[in-house]
This record gives sequence, structure tokens and C-alpha cells, in this order.
Amino acid sequence: MKEDLTATVLLSGGQDSFVCLLWARERYARVEAVTVAYGQRHALETFYATRVAQRFVIPHRLLDLGGLMREMAPSALLDDGDLSGAHPLSAELPASFVPNRNGLLLTLAANHAYSLGEPRLELVIGACQTDYSGYPDCRDVYLKSKAVELSLGLDRPVSIHAPLMWKTKAEIFSMAEAAGELDALISETLTCYAGDEALHAWGRGCGACPACQLRMKGWNAFSETRRLPANP
Ligand code: ZN
Repeated sequence: MKEDLTATVLLSGGQDSFVCLLWARERYARVEAVTVAYGQRHALETFYATRVAQRFVIPHRLLDLGGLMREMAPSALLDDGDLSGAHPLSAELPASFVPNRNGLLLTLAANHAYSLGEPRLELVIGACQTDYSGYPDCRDVYLKSKAVELSLGLDRPVSIHAPLMWKTKAEIFSMAEAAGELDALISETLTCYAGDEALHAWGRGCGACPACQLRMKGWNAFSETRRLPANP
């Protein structure tokens, strides 16, 4: 039986948040989606997020931060920098790291959930530590402490669910297949940093950026387990 609560899903338009939406639909009586445009290079993702919300007839709030994030901190995801190198402020982190992104997105999602007047705030995010890109704000320990912070700040119980935290990309494809939405995952999500919409067996993208490489690798592993034709 579904929980009689509303889950607020952070929907980016990419494959991970799409599967999070499927996860939430199976567990909660009501699901709403929040998409934040923060000046990411792949701005086209927000268009895909809107379409996904429409597909599942889910209330969708689109928040546009304009150039705020870009003003606050450097990230190759927000400008034309080289995505393959290290972050200018930390040699340990990839160039695509956006400082405090998940902290900000979760705060905004919590505000949306709070506005619904529910007794408990259930937030869902597609953070994943398995194919760890080195983003510290994707770690399980960070999300757990963020939930405590938001609960204290709002004086209401807040849970942050990250159903993909320990999943591989191949398992994420399997989750979509189990929900009967594999085709939609492939054709109706966009994860590519270059915003390339070219459609392949593994999904849409340029095939060369780190996000596409990860997605392709996951598809190939998934295909092997399912004995589907591998990506040419
Ligand atoms: Zn790409």
C-alpha cells in the first residue's frame, strides 16, 4: 500500500531522476516534481524534465536561478571550461563540480514540500555514490545530515530518499525496465553535458562527454545481463 503522503522528486530531465520518479510513484499516494535551472550547460534538460512530468501527469515546479550559481562559484558545468580536468578550486574534485548544488536543490525541494502542508516532508534525489564522480554532496552521509538540518530548520520531519545511492548504472536501467518504462528512459531523458539529443540504443547524447560515457558503460553492462545487442 502506498504511503498517504506527497513525495517531492528533484527532476533534472536526466535518467537518474527519471528512475527516482518511477520509484516514488510506486510508494507514495502523491508525487510532485521540482526542477531547478541553475545555468547548467545542458539547459535542455529542463525541457525534458517538463515533458517527463507531463507524461506522468505530475505537478511540476520549475525554478530558474538564472546566473546565480555561476556568480557564486566556478564550475565547468556552468561555463565553457574543460570538463575532463580538475576543479579550479580543488584538485581532488572534477571540473564539473558545482559547489553546494545538492544542498541548494534539496533546500528548494524542501520549501516546495513544506508549502504542501504535509505532516512529513519526503524528498527524493537521484544522488548516487556507486559510480562516484567525487562529488562530496552526493555522499550518503551528506544527505543524512542534510535531512537533519532541514528538519531542524523547518521544525518538521524531513526524509531524504536516494534510491539510487548504491545502484550501478546497469541496475538503474533494470529499475526502469522493471517499471515497464525502459523505452521512455532511453528516449525521453537527456543526461549529456553537451545537450546533444542524438538518439542511440543507450539513450540520447554526444557519446563523448563524461555523462554519456557513464551512461553508455551502464547500458553495455545492462545489455550483457539481458543479452540485448550491445551498443555498436
Ligand atoms: Zn554527451
